[in-house]
Amino acid sequence: MELKQEMNINNEVLVEVKNLKKYFNLGNGRILKAVDNVSFNLKKGETLGLVGESGCGKTTCGRTILGAYDATGGEVLFQGKNIYTMDKKEKKDFRRDAQMIFQDPYASLDPRMTVGDIVAEGIDIHKAYTKSDRQNRIYELLQLVGLNKEHASRFPHEFSGGQRQRIGIARSLAINPRFIVCDEPISALDVSIQAQVVNLLINLQKELELTYLFIAHDLSMVRHISDRVGVMYLGCMVELADSNELYSNPQHPYTKALLSAIPVPNPKIERNKKRIELQGEVPSPINPKPGCRFKERCKYAKEVCGQVTPELKEISKNHFVSCHLY
Ligand code: SF4
Repeated sequence: MELKQEMNINNEVLVEVKNLKKYFNLGNGRILKAVDNVSFNLKKGETLGLVGESGCGKTTCGRTILGAYDATGGEVLFQGKNIYTMDKKEKKDFRRDAQMIFQDPYASLDPRMTVGDIVAEGIDIHKAYTKSDRQNRIYELLQLVGLNKEHASRFPHEFSGGQRQRIGIARSLAINPRFIVCDEPISALDVSIQAQVVNLLINLQKELELTYLFIAHDLSMVRHISDRVGVMYLGCMVELADSNELYSNPQHPYTKALLSAIPVPNPKIERNKKRIELQGEVPSPINPKPGCRFKERCKYAKEVCGQVTPELKEISKNHFVSCHLY
């Protein structure tokens, strides 16, 4: 698969995430710190990949940015406005402008609804089109994602996983959003279908000038769609850089380990490649100990790593790392 071509990204910031925190109180003094002090921004027309193992907080981060969860601390600004303090009208506009594509194309589509009604969910909620325009809009959306008019009267069980994800994408586009959180949109699909869905998302982005937060645990596929990539570990952002820079020059010990596990399609290189084995288990995000969250598994850990939480620092242009080695 080809890498994403340089896109027309302007410097206008669409989404700003500032020191975002989302904690869940589990009772008995146990606090699950799913997202802890995460900051980044998204420029118009850009794709930021957000990667990390299961349980690192990336999905919670995406949902909190969309306002599906109230933040425990920090801010999310959409076009300069804090989404948590918006008035009713601003919130309504934000809900049109910001959408989500879900991970599981089987669970996210109501099996009792026709594809047309599923795609039109947002249109109906926001009363965005007249009755006749609604039908035309459904046909237009189905064609936009590589399906056709005849599919509108069918039900989700009549479609393959890849086609269902196309239906989910059509639904997210129904009311002309500007920002989409793609929550692991390809991880439930066969590898052969994943590339098709990624290519569709890239083409839609160009055509509709969309901005994506693309959440995934598969680092190899994220590279194809992302302009920049952020790596999360146990609720914290540990590295953030332009995509090419991150893949060719990773700095954080965790990013290096993740990248070393990606198979290379050349058998000779793959045979000689040194894989970095992570030591120990992923610690619990409940009541995390002070200092760097990665210290239990890091072979470079020193005394300070157990005492002081490293800040995300810019170590070279647009390359940020949170580690006491830098
Ligand atoms: Fe390792 Fe310390 Fe860096 Fe954390 S801060 S990644 S423990 S060296």
